[in-house]
Amino acid sequence: MAVIVQKYGGSSVSSPERIRTVARRVIEARKVGYDTVVVVSAIGGTTDELVKLAYQVTDSPSEREIDVLISTGEQVSVALLAMAVHSLGYEAISFTGSQTGIVTDSAHTRARIMKIEPEKIKNELSLGKIVIVAGFQGTTQDSEITTLGRGASDLTAIALGAVLKAEVVEIYTDVDGVYTADPKVAKDARKLPVISYDEMLEMASLGAQVMQSRAVEFAKKFNVPVHVRSSFSKDAGTLIREEAKSMEKIVVRGVTANKSEAKVSLLGVPDRPGIAALIFKRLADDDINIDMIVQNVSEVGKSDISFTIEGSDLKRTVAVAEKVAKDIGAREVSSDENIAKVSIVGLGMRSHSGIAAKMFSALAGENINIEMISTSEIKISCIIRKKLADKAVKALHAKFGLGKQRKARRKKKK
Ligand code: ADP
Ligand code: ASP
Ligand code: MG
Repeated sequence: MAVIVQKYGGSSVSSPERIRTVARRVIEARKVGYDTVVVVSAIGGTTDELVKLAYQVTDSPSEREIDVLISTGEQVSVALLAMAVHSLGYEAISFTGSQTGIVTDSAHTRARIMKIEPEKIKNELSLGKIVIVAGFQGTTQDSEITTLGRGASDLTAIALGAVLKAEVVEIYTDVDGVYTADPKVAKDARKLPVISYDEMLEMASLGAQVMQSRAVEFAKKFNVPVHVRSSFSKDAGTLIREEAKSMEKIVVRGVTANKSEAKVSLLGVPDRPGIAALIFKRLADDDINIDMIVQNVSEVGKSDISFTIEGSDLKRTVAVAEKVAKDIGAREVSSDENIAKVSIVGLGMRSHSGIAAKMFSALAGENINIEMISTSEIKISCIIRKKLADKAVKALHAKFGLGKQRKARRKKKK
């Protein structure tokens, strides 16, 4: 029998009524004849609440205990969904990450999946049961509970889809697909019927929360077809799939903003060979992921080096940067959390020129100063002030003609 994997996000299970609605939807897939595996997130807001609670108890909770704590959120929702399915007369069984056979490394709070042993799931499916799996968690070889990073129920679903060779993985959320920009910010954003893995990967890693980026990476690697859709409607959503030639016709597929990064600067750094290598080696040794880097000459023989990182790494990064600054004789270290990264993404950028100029002029038109720039084959990103991020998204969305109105006007003209 064909396998389907459905994933329901936190907002889809945020009340008993919604859990019953999800149960009905899951049963529909079973009735069509699918072997049905369901991945569920914690009830919306639960994970944040649990993390907050930990920090109310101590400033520096152990990551192992954070995992023991936050993995409970998903355990609650799988049990409730299984009960709701039972009450409608169908057989279902809930599993935690460890019961599912999701084996990870031991990097608590951001563990990587090493392998999946799906025998238990397959067994239950062969008995005709709907299998309901707790998202975002796994277990190490030594039976330690791990979590896979925020938003990683998407990853659980895609990984199970890959290993069970699912016909499709459906990601049910509170929007009915992937939009040209966050519909909460750009009110005229349009739903995309289809998007390539690479574009979705860029959008996800540049701030489009709708899919977790590691999940998209996994889907691309194992060629898993993904359908992002709403748990509140039956409408078709967005298909994420392999690139087709025709997709290059669209220059800019979407606009994103990431408000969770921070900038660190080393000022008055001696300007000589090997210094940058030393600074970034020390940061890498501490497992700090660097995003953008800029270096400019400040005074004769000195330069300033600025780079961006995930905001949650700021404290650690400043500590390392201060030590390095002392060792190399840099003047000072400063940090800035009030930044945002706005980006445009599209396969068509490969074959079109003038896109960067158009982006910069849209930002200039709103009097938005660009502090850093980075580009790749299919994206351009700019660091700007955080408070201007929404304004920038709207301006870029309009400049590249992504909104609904523009399309309607074009139709009228014909
Ligand atoms: P879930 O809890 O179901 O995993 P998330 O909150 O993680 O849902 O993701 C859905 C949210 O992603 C939407 O409510 C929307 O505001 C946001 N989002 C950001 N960018 C986009 C985009 N380009 N298209 C659709 N949704 C987006
Ligand atoms: N509950 C987890 C989180 O909030 C995982 C998820 O929802 O995907 O990050
Ligand atoms: Mg999510």
